[in-house]
Amino acid sequence: MAHNLAQARAHAGARGIWAVVKANAYGHGIENAVRAFADADGLALLETDEAHRARAAGWRKPILLLEGVFEHRDFALVAELDLTVVVHGFEQIAMLERLRPARPVGVYCKFDTGMNRLGFAADEARTAFDRLAALAHVRIEALMTHLANADRRDAAASVPTVASQRRALRALVPEWRGGWSVANSAALFLHAPEGDPTEAEFVRPGIALYGASPVVGIAAADLGLRPAMQLRSRVLAVRNLAPGQTVGYGSRWTARRPSRIGIVACGYADGYPRSAPDGTPVWVENAAGGARVALIGRVSMDMIAVDLTDMPSAACGDAVELWGTRIGVDEVAERAGTIGYELLSGLPARVRERPQ
Ligand SMILES: *Cc1c(COP(=O)(O)O)cnc(C)c1O
Repeated sequence: MAHNLAQARAHAGARGIWAVVKANAYGHGIENAVRAFADADGLALLETDEAHRARAAGWRKPILLLEGVFEHRDFALVAELDLTVVVHGFEQIAMLERLRPARPVGVYCKFDTGMNRLGFAADEARTAFDRLAALAHVRIEALMTHLANADRRDAAASVPTVASQRRALRALVPEWRGGWSVANSAALFLHAPEGDPTEAEFVRPGIALYGASPVVGIAAADLGLRPAMQLRSRVLAVRNLAPGQTVGYGSRWTARRPSRIGIVACGYADGYPRSAPDGTPVWVENAAGGARVALIGRVSMDMIAVDLTDMPSAACGDAVELWGTRIGVDEVAERAGTIGYELLSGLPARVRERPQ
């Protein structure tokens, strides 16, 4: 994770970095992120309890609440934990207007420039900005937006692009001379910086910091990234099948030859995607060496089956990597019809914390 942050830093140049650690640092653990991202300028996350964990783990630099506060009483924690808050809606402005904090609250004002999810629309931008700017106890630190298509190099003219969203953001408050925050991992690693180099800019990479690719079709290794998570298990049983015999629920896979199959202790309750099809690669390793073998049959709650016929040395107890350094999480995700983000962030805590 520290290596990946250094790669992000190389791309960011003079721009500041919010290391995005939402969803338990994309499944890697807030405490690990606090240590690995010591060189980041701040941590960005969603929930006050994760902010609390980051502070308890010793994080002293800024923390940005990416969706801001949900209710008025959250401001007590904003003050206690010294959080910077995104403001994306008028309900949040109304809460700030009622607030009488001991110290000014740092704010990122979020505008919607095409994502149509969170943020003030173009026709609300002036009012929102002016109401915030009128509050003596609010310090607007940056104007931000979130990109809809940074991971597409072929984005059609009809959809918002990195350039069009950035232009739209700049047009909303023409006199603004403070900071900006636009780029996610895809924009940081794949698009040349478009900001004015004389202005303060803060990028917000997430997925790249964990060594997965922000873009389908581009390998993380080709972006200089290293996987930070290894999902490991063991072969828990080995059995021989005659041609015609089938494996698992629904008998999805049928042996076409005399086959040796392994049962691996990892299933969808452990974060492995149930949608993974036959042929999804799995790494099996023992003293004789390692090999990529194929998943066969439907993924169960706590096991999968693999075809060990072409790996005669494979035996009960062999080490298995579901994803990590031998099998990229993005490769498994693509086979399963999803993205690395979902697999990493979906890892259950009880799996992450199980001692090896
Ligand atoms: C999750 C998130 C990011 C990080 O996106 P990646 O694609 O993981 O780099 C940046 N900004 C916001 C607002 C986010 O919610």
